[in-house]
Amino acid sequence: MEIQKIGIIGAGQMGNGIAHVMALAGYDVLLTDISQDALDAALSLVARNLDRQVSRDLISAEDKDATMARIGTTLTLTDLGQTDLIIEAATERETVKQAIFDELLPHLQPHTILTSNTSSISITRLASRTDRPEKFMGFHFMNPVPLMKLVELIRGIATDEPTYKACLGVVERLGKTAASAEDFPAFIVNRILVPMINEAVYTLYEGVGNVKSIDESMKLGANHPMGPLELADFIGLDTCLAIMNVLHDGLADTKYRPCPLLVKYVEAGWLGRKSGRGFYDYRGEVPVPTR
Ligand code: NAD
Repeated sequence: MEIQKIGIIGAGQMGNGIAHVMALAGYDVLLTDISQDALDAALSLVARNLDRQVSRDLISAEDKDATMARIGTTLTLTDLGQTDLIIEAATERETVKQAIFDELLPHLQPHTILTSNTSSISITRLASRTDRPEKFMGFHFMNPVPLMKLVELIRGIATDEPTYKACLGVVERLGKTAASAEDFPAFIVNRILVPMINEAVYTLYEGVGNVKSIDESMKLGANHPMGPLELADFIGLDTCLAIMNVLHDGLADTKYRPCPLLVKYVEAGWLGRKSGRGFYDYRGEVPVPTR
């Protein structure tokens, strides 16, 4: 089926990036949020990020103008009923997503594909509460969306092949690569990445290394572009802990138990870059290890 109009729900960190790449690829985008401030901030951020691409000669000034002209915004969720594909990228809370789908469903066209950018909620469970589980799937972008090449496409148990193929076509038109994942906790990237980060925190907790030696070891010894603790601060320690809890609860295997030190940092409100302190303290000129 032909997809031309794309609805995006949630204009936060992920939603603005998804609007950016979709409109740049030529899709008509309708972006919604509960907050006008979030919509305004998203549009100005997309404009700034496009300007950066213009200044690097990656796109032309005309491309930027055409991209901005393809992004519409609305505070009325049901306006998205006229789109061909919807990507839900609202706050990571199941009750929030559920309420969005409940309000939206009666207004959708029969052919509209419904997807969620969720990092951790079961696609099959979300799909089962809609009128179209076969036209529902996970469309999981990586952060920051304009830079990261991968999209995980997650099939719920009922997702049909035409839906998968249509979403794959969109990913290809974006110039990105799709990884096909089954609907199990944390999918592929976070299933592998976050336990590695958790293990780095155990390595710190047990005194095997300190923050600096652990990060340096993985950068110089394993050729990782960022150390695991630096990366944890970038992702947000609360997010890392939430993903470990999803793995622990969903797979019931003790190998996924969250490190007590990770729990302690989150309890302290030391959540990483976004709160000014995590495994590093970002309040000065340069990040200083906290252990
Ligand atoms: P965010 O907090 O930056 O943005 C969420 C936005 O949703 C906010 O602007 C909020 O106003 C809006 N919102 C809340 N309730 C709404 C409603 N009822 N209707 C419309 N909009 C509503 O969050 P984010 O980091 O952009 O994450 C969004 C989704 O993407 C989550 O499901 C998250 O798991 C997923 N995700 C996040 C990342 C990441 O690194 N941040 C990566 C991949 C996937």
